[in-house]
Amino acid sequence: MSENYLENQYLQIKNQIPEGVQLVAVSKFHSAEKIKLIYDLGQKVFGENKVQELVEKYEILPKDIEWHLIGHLQTNKVKYIAPFVNSIQSVDSEKVLKEIDKEALKNSRAINVLLQVKIAEEDSKFGLTIPETEQIYNEYLNGDFPNIKITGLMGMATFTEDKVQVRSEFLKLKTLFNKLNQLQKLETLSMGMSDDFKLAVECSSNSVRIGSAIFGDRE
Ligand SMILES: *Cc1c(COP(=O)(O)O)cnc(C)c1O
Repeated sequence: MSENYLENQYLQIKNQIPEGVQLVAVSKFHSAEKIKLIYDLGQKVFGENKVQELVEKYEILPKDIEWHLIGHLQTNKVKYIAPFVNSIQSVDSEKVLKEIDKEALKNSRAINVLLQVKIAEEDSKFGLTIPETEQIYNEYLNGDFPNIKITGLMGMATFTEDKVQVRSEFLKLKTLFNKLNQLQKLETLSMGMSDDFKLAVECSSNSVRIGSAIFGDRE
């Protein structure tokens, strides 16, 4: 793939995203060189799904990149990203939340997290149930986890052509978002990937995570 192709892909996607909606460029499996090309066009927010890959890229790329972890996080790996990660979008258990809180304190910094909610039908997807999400948010509002900031919710719809189903899954998350938002204001509703981001934005997503539509198929 040529440099121009990548730059065009990026600009094309960027142009399709309404103002006020954040674009997280998902760079997993793609090289630091490719990330740098997109960075030079003004993209500062990138998402990775593996801790080791995230740390390696963090070390060699410009320090004003805002890194988001979007993949399942094991408790014993939180310490590697706690010093620099901007947001952990994939919090899917209370156990990992406690560990993030602990590491945030150790590093004297607040870490933003999103609670990942399971909205898809597929069994394979990680995520909290809706009742678990509400319970954790209430604990958070009661002062548990003082070193982190829960800034919103993240969800992934079922991988299907069935738009009616995808829409209903997105709306399920939006409804939960509105409910929790009434307790205390939340900033980020992270829904939508390469194949479904337009639908997600229609369903009130204000942060989309786009990989292959920018970078091409993963190597
Ligand atoms: C890989 C990934 C994406 C991006 O997927 P594309 O279909 O390549 O846009 C978004 N969110 C999560 C959680 C991912 O793992």
